Amino acid sequence: MTNRPQVLRTVAALRRAMAPYRKADIALVPTMGALHAGHLKLVTEAKKRARRVVVSIFVNPTQFAPTEDFGSYPRTLEADMKALTALKVDAVWAPTAAAMYPEGFATRVAPEGAALAGLEDKFRPHFFGGVATVVTKLFTQVQPDFALFGQKDYQQLCVVTQMASDLDLGVKVVGIPTVREKDGLAMSSRNVYLSEAERAVAPTLYRVLKASAQRIKRGEPIEMVMEEGAGEIRHAGFALDYLEARHALSLKPIASVKDGPIRLLVAAKIGKTRLIDNLGV
Ligand code: AMP
Repeated sequence: MTNRPQVLRTVAALRRAMAPYRKADIALVPTMGALHAGHLKLVTEAKKRARRVVVSIFVNPTQFAPTEDFGSYPRTLEADMKALTALKVDAVWAPTAAAMYPEGFATRVAPEGAALAGLEDKFRPHFFGGVATVVTKLFTQVQPDFALFGQKDYQQLCVVTQMASDLDLGVKVVGIPTVREKDGLAMSSRNVYLSEAERAVAPTLYRVLKASAQRIKRGEPIEMVMEEGAGEIRHAGFALDYLEARHALSLKPIASVKDGPIRLLVAAKIGKTRLIDNLGV
């Protein structure tokens, strides 16, 4: 196929391919593949910001716990390449695990601040160290001017934004609103795990977020709204990890709309599948 993006598997090949791109702006879209319309929105937004667009596809083993789904995570490289060809992406950075973590690899970036907010970090303590380390590597490998991340993973977006600034990585991190299915369910590579019955109740998370945001905006007490929302999510059959109202920038607990912009964040398991979502008030 013509215009198929070049696929780069080693750091040396990436460096060679990137050299001529450096005359213009470069945008990076980091992904774990199994691309859906949410990822593709990041790519189209990247194209608006930079002449050259690189998409990375790497299922990063260090952000999965041994009990999680690293082995079964969907891998759909051929379909991903078709979609990225249609969008005229310049290059796909798909390192092998050995290229990313060579024998003897012994360094880890340990983010604090938003990474210790007591949300995802409480349930996936390994996660942000894994993400921060791999994203630092992706940024230094590709050296993009922009990097696009989804608001879908809101805490991750906060952590990466802070890290790029703290470490002077020279990358502007851009957050893109969540792309949803018609019924409100946030698109996710993990939605393929849902049975028909689970898929039917999955939009409860977004429904509760939306209703809760409206109630908080109207002045109802945050604690009560969160408690009732949690009840509704559990009643629908989820095992709830958290439903919380946090300061939208620091992710610290927040008691009132007067104390700053609020973000509602939720994580819950339906059957074996863990879903996350969030919404601004
Ligand atoms: P992942 O492949 O799940 O690691 O996601 C790669 C990037 O796509 C991350 O920045 C995600 O936040 C973003 N993303 C995932 N799902 C969506 C969505 N539904 N809408 C917008 N961005 C998304």
